[in-house]
Amino acid sequence: MITFLSGGTGTPKLVRGARRHVPDHAITVIVNTAEDLWISGSHLSPDIDTLLYLFSGDLNTDTWWGMKGDSFQTHQELIRLGVDEYIGIGDRDRALHIARGELLRKGFSLTEATQILSSRMGIEASILPMTDEEVTTLIRTDTSTIHFQEYWVKHRGTLPIREILRYAPTGPSAGAGVIKAIQSADRVIIGPSNPITSILPILECSGVIPALVDSFVIAVSPFIGNAPVSGPAAALMHARGLSPDSASTFSLYKDFCDLFVQDIRDPVTVSGSFRCDTLMTDEGKSAALAEALIKTIK
Ligand code: GDP
Repeated sequence: MITFLSGGTGTPKLVRGARRHVPDHAITVIVNTAEDLWISGSHLSPDIDTLLYLFSGDLNTDTWWGMKGDSFQTHQELIRLGVDEYIGIGDRDRALHIARGELLRKGFSLTEATQILSSRMGIEASILPMTDEEVTTLIRTDTSTIHFQEYWVKHRGTLPIREILRYAPTGPSAGAGVIKAIQSADRVIIGPSNPITSILPILECSGVIPALVDSFVIAVSPFIGNAPVSGPAAALMHARGLSPDSASTFSLYKDFCDLFVQDIRDPVTVSGSFRCDTLMTDEGKSAALAEALIKTIK
């Protein structure tokens, strides 16, 4: 069994490739939930949604969010009615958010709701929220403190970041099955997800780091040189006092990482790293990278 730690783009691209080599039922993905929010009355869990759609075959792999071929009529109508729905939610995508919101309102945990929805969508992989508790990444700007989605989607990442805050009133402890999924995996793969907003929230769930220390862990850098392949990771690394590169990424993972993977083009040196082509520009390249990682000898 392979267990991945995932955000909503870099690792899902790798998971897509891994599916060519490993059956879905042998894949577990522990997913960041620190970007979740209730919006327009339903529950958006951006990274879980991406994984659900990846495994159900519905994912829009041009954007790595939402369902392919979706329409946006409800979103447009809500905007017309003055609702500040600053995230473009597709009509079919919204149905999933409504269904999850209903399950959560009935008292199911996020893990249970994800399991129920996975099974209804015919998914054989195990998609595990990192926690069942509330965790939110907040961005403090010069004028206010806002949800990460508001920073990235509404303001398109243009506001200067003064501080990154994690609101987690009750913990958080790892979700049901998370620690076991790490302990029982042949290998744990931290794909090239954003270290600050996707992977650190998972590492902050109690019990996760000790379990990783005892496991064989491979981590892939999302940086080439001093820039991420995509997204706001550079500004977020700077806000944490880190340079946006592979060396800083490794410094965050070094206590439990057995094999660190850097792109063949990356000019930054991390001693002992494994060099690969990590640019997953299509499914074939994702599959080649996944195969190289699956074949590595412990
Ligand atoms: P988010 O939840 O949408 O922010 O997505 P993730 O945190 O899962 O992934 C975002 C990170 O993926 C960014 O920092 C990118 O640099 C990285 N990324 C995206 N595509 C690739 C790729 O093909 N190769 C590598 N090495 N990194 C990638």
